Amino acid sequence: MGGVPGGFLESMRELLGPAGVIEDTGEIEGYTTSFWRDRSGRAPLVLRPAATAEVQAIVRAAIRHKVPLVPQGGNTGLVGGGIPDGSGRMVVVSTARMDRIRGIDPHGDHLVAEAGCVLAEVQAMAAASKRLFPLSLGAEGSCRIGGNISTNAGGVNVLRWGMMRDLVLGLEVVLGDGTLWSGLRALRKDNRGYDLKQLFIGAEGTLGIITAATLKLVRPPTQRVTAWLGLYSIEAAVELYRHARDRLGDLATSFEAIAGEGVHIAQDQLDGVAAPLAGRHGWYVLVELGWGLKTGLEAVVLDWLQEAMDLGMVEDGTIAQSEAQRQAMWRIREGQSEAAAKLGAVWRSDVAVPVERIGELVDRAELALRPIVPDAVMFPFGHLGDGNLHVNLLLPGAARWDPELAQACQTALFDVVDRMGGSFSAEHGIGRSKRLELLARKDPAEIGLMRKLKAALDPHGILNPGAVI
Ligand SMILES: Cc1cc2nc3c(=O)[nH]c(=O)nc-3n(C[C@H](O)[C@H](O)[C@H](O)COP(=O)(O)OP(=O)(O)OC[C@H]3O[C@@H](n4cnc5c(N)ncnc54)[C@H](O)[C@@H]3O)c2cc1C
Repeated sequence: MGGVPGGFLESMRELLGPAGVIEDTGEIEGYTTSFWRDRSGRAPLVLRPAATAEVQAIVRAAIRHKVPLVPQGGNTGLVGGGIPDGSGRMVVVSTARMDRIRGIDPHGDHLVAEAGCVLAEVQAMAAASKRLFPLSLGAEGSCRIGGNISTNAGGVNVLRWGMMRDLVLGLEVVLGDGTLWSGLRALRKDNRGYDLKQLFIGAEGTLGIITAATLKLVRPPTQRVTAWLGLYSIEAAVELYRHARDRLGDLATSFEAIAGEGVHIAQDQLDGVAAPLAGRHGWYVLVELGWGLKTGLEAVVLDWLQEAMDLGMVEDGTIAQSEAQRQAMWRIREGQSEAAAKLGAVWRSDVAVPVERIGELVDRAELALRPIVPDAVMFPFGHLGDGNLHVNLLLPGAARWDPELAQACQTALFDVVDRMGGSFSAEHGIGRSKRLELLARKDPAEIGLMRKLKAALDPHGILNPGAVI
């Protein structure tokens, strides 16, 4: 089974030429296997349009020939939304060749990027104009703007500048009926009816294919301080966060909490990573602060830390004295999953609860998961300031997770989160891997509304069927 109608293939070869159509099975595999190689699907071909008009022509041909399409950016998504299912019928539409920055306006604090621009390149382009594009996450060297928008990506700077949703001013989108919506506005205020761009942000390719976006830029902080702190417990980290907000207001741009298990695994397994602190601690906090004044931030941070130490919240700490030291701290934070994967099979999650209840979440997760996987190493970490933790589990020595065991862990953790009024998907989305959970756990009225939107914007059901809804 599988394949595409001959007429569709012919029209795509004609439309896109050899650079835009991949038919070689070996090459296709890179587009049908997930980042961590824990999920794969099948596709008869991959299309690589280079312009918006080509995306529109692809969608129109797909409607004519009833071919389902999976939009794909950098393929770093963690919920299987950007790779096809196993049917062998879905065609991947990669935005990799749509990677132009169409324009940058530093005085208006925005730029227009095509969907296939790599996030790190957008950051670099903003920096070259003395501006900051604040979205930052571990996969920024590979993920692409269209994917960031479609997953409403979060990352490490949400505390100060918000999620992707807060950074998009306008969009250009090809809808499921083949219509092109040119909404590349740069307005800060625009209340002319529904805010349509918000529909496509976080829609995971189910409502339209984003081809370009107007993105908000900010002034980069002129001073930045990065501190690595050792703490006794997650409760102390929450207390420290509250203390930081009370004393320093909005100065923190990142406030990341990491369980000792994950830090020690990263320090032991990653090449060239030195431990920032001599001793070992139950939990660690990586906090980054920035402001627009030219001097004085380090003294303010040291005062705050001294007070926090006097109050017993922090056991030990250090401030990065160079960019290399700062990078080493972030390497530990970002490298935990990679380090843990060297020791066995890793199960990942992405949950959120109110910040004040993060400690309770860790306790309840331990209680719920331990009986299911007594030998697993739990190494939660995440964006404490956003109430978002990745409660991850390592099965030492295992090659992969048994699907039933993984499902049992997922159900147990999601039940805990539901009971706490939280979210079982804080920033990674639903994709294919959490679709049934969404249908089972979300308010039926909301599911009904989502179905109506899907039917209105993708009436032929060709955009990423089987993902999200
Ligand atoms: C090491 C690592 C660290 C990560 N850290 C974070 C983190 O801190 N925060 C966070 O939020 N995420 C994180 N992620 C997840 C991932 O990087 C983000 O979800 C990212 O935004 C996905 O971008 P992408 O281009 O790779 O999208 P893809 O994986 O290619 O696609 C993701 C989804 O978007 C859809 N899509 C892609 N492009 C388009 C388009 N042009 N139009 C319509 N739909 C489209 C796809 O169909 C799919 O449903 C991390 C991933 C890895 C591997």
